[in-house]
Amino acid sequence: MEETPNPENPLSFDLPKLLKRGGGANLQIDWNLEEISTTYSEAHQLGGELRAEASGDKVVVSGELNLGWSGPCRRCLDTTDGVDTLAVSEIYETDSTDGETFEIPQNQILDLRPMLQELILLALPLTPLCSHDCRGPIPEEYPAGSPDTQGEEHGIDPPIDPRWEALGALTFEEKESN
Ligand SMILES: [Zn+2]
Repeated sequence: MEETPNPENPLSFDLPKLLKRGGGANLQIDWNLEEISTTYSEAHQLGGELRAEASGDKVVVSGELNLGWSGPCRRCLDTTDGVDTLAVSEIYETDSTDGETFEIPQNQILDLRPMLQELILLALPLTPLCSHDCRGPIPEEYPAGSPDTQGEEHGIDPPIDPRWEALGALTFEEKESN
């Protein structure tokens, strides 16, 4: 069943309705973000659909959202942007466990914003890259990938866990095929 968005806060579920139905409700998310950023990148838009399922005194909110972001490329420093998937799977309950579940609010409104803000901050890229073969600001003097650019002196490329590099390659290939 589709949730009718609350005009005062479209990023919320109506708790009494949800618990009365004893089932679930879907909510369209379309959030223009203006205040969420880290030192490395900033979030612009969050879109997609979330589902809330009530079971007993718990509410599970889940779904996959698209997070649009932008930030300076870690090699050439040009502004670059991208869209990442934000997987949501969170539990709201009374007597929540800090850092694991969220507290069911006392009022009637399950405001999703604090939870989404937390997830967005974790999902924003720490090392944006404009293109996987970006050659950096002055490739003639400092070719990206050469031992010269790895040194502390230049400090542009933070060390990357090879597993994350593999993920970066996947994202890039997806974009190419669009
Ligand atoms: Zn670049």
